[in-house]
Amino acid sequence: MQENDQTPHSSIQDEESFRSAVVDFLEENCKQIGKSESGLDDDPERVKECKSFQKELFKAGLAALSYSKEYGGGGLTKKHQELFDEIARDWRLPNGPLYISHGMCLPMLDQYGTDEQKNTFMKDCISGEKIWCQLFSEPGAGSDVASLSTRASRDGDEWVISGQKVWTSGAHYADLGMVVARTDPSLPKHKGLSMFIVDFTDPTVEVKPLKQISGGSGFNEVFFNETRISSNRLLGDLNQGWNLAVSMLMFERVSIGAGGGSLTADRTPALIELAKTLDKNSDPCIRQMLSDLWIREKIRRFIGQRVRDSAAAGLVPGPEGSIAKLNGSLLARLFRNASMEIVGTSGQAWKIGDDDAEKWAIGCLAASGVSIAGGTDEVQRNIIGERVLGLPKEPDPFKGASWDSVPRN
Ligand SMILES: Cc1cc2nc3c(=O)[nH]c(=O)nc-3n(C[C@H](O)[C@H](O)[C@H](O)COP(=O)(O)OP(=O)(O)OC[C@H]3O[C@@H](n4cnc5c(N)ncnc54)[C@H](O)[C@@H]3O)c2cc1C
Repeated sequence: MQENDQTPHSSIQDEESFRSAVVDFLEENCKQIGKSESGLDDDPERVKECKSFQKELFKAGLAALSYSKEYGGGGLTKKHQELFDEIARDWRLPNGPLYISHGMCLPMLDQYGTDEQKNTFMKDCISGEKIWCQLFSEPGAGSDVASLSTRASRDGDEWVISGQKVWTSGAHYADLGMVVARTDPSLPKHKGLSMFIVDFTDPTVEVKPLKQISGGSGFNEVFFNETRISSNRLLGDLNQGWNLAVSMLMFERVSIGAGGGSLTADRTPALIELAKTLDKNSDPCIRQMLSDLWIREKIRRFIGQRVRDSAAAGLVPGPEGSIAKLNGSLLARLFRNASMEIVGTSGQAWKIGDDDAEKWAIGCLAASGVSIAGGTDEVQRNIIGERVLGLPKEPDPFKGASWDSVPRN
């Protein structure tokens, strides 16, 4: 493994000592903290648990391993992070509420932030002290997110943001958000957007949780009621927000499809255990399903490896992020079908307090969301069609027209 001058712990530079440092840490911290596999990430107890776990990880120099030490990272290499992730697959890390902060917002800060923004925000993001959310979707702009209406108008040294977002995961426990807003309505829809960093403790930011079928409230409506932010909270260049949004969505797709999130991690071993416990492992149909899933999980690893290798080579994720995401969402549905086949009715109706049954039911109910979050399966197929297969772009009768001249609801 390559050494890195910025390494904070010279003893964990080489692979063997790094591996044992990670295993020691996980053994010490995950058994106690990671016990609760069931439950939802929006549960305040889970958020607290996540923050204290991340604090320990940060103190051990094992958080955000490949990010610069100057900004609170581990100062190691992407290879170290890969090794960490590989080892960590055998543990339940209670860090679900940091999924967006670290999967999407952190790489954006690192790539597009000014030195001042990196100094102000990265360390607290890495240590889990502050949690971030991302705000793209609106009631009138989901798949066609470039048509969004939230406005940011300049007033002296400040930006004033007004509008509504929806489906904002984790906004109810987030401290900060990355918001895409329209800064120039006279430009075509993709050209007049910018991205901003907004403080969620500002009283003009109103967060209203949405109740989901799974019983939790993982996402929210967010209203910006003339929220004033300083001009140094613009992320990237003015009116270049679409490029940033595309980068961020690709980080998200890679995270969902290849990053091993709770609904897309390798879960066949847990299902095999479940089938054994319920005495269903000799059922020929269940055996077929389990073998099929296991093979597909191996394929997902290869896709993930390819995506991570190109990121390690310094490339911004391209359409391979869409391939990873689409594959991850198909896998989540196959897993759902297999787990429901094994657990039967207790996967849909369970006794209060039966944490095990609740875990499978929540996994089942949440699986469909994977094919919508970060761009739907259809949108990923459109991207693959255009950018990988060279098929013609979708027709757009308003191509090149200014956003404010296009009719909308
Ligand atoms: C679990 C989860 C978490 C989320 N978290 C966030 C978040 O943190 N922040 C955020 O901003 N958003 C978030 N979202 C919102 C998500 O990005 C949107 O739901 C998604 O982009 C789809 O938009 P929509 O719901 O408005 O559906 P629509 O865009 O209205 O799509 C409706 C249907 O039409 C299809 N469709 C639309 N356009 C096309 C096309 N051109 N070709 C073919 N089919 C098409 C879609 O595939 C879909 O089936 C989250 C969603 C989920 C499920």
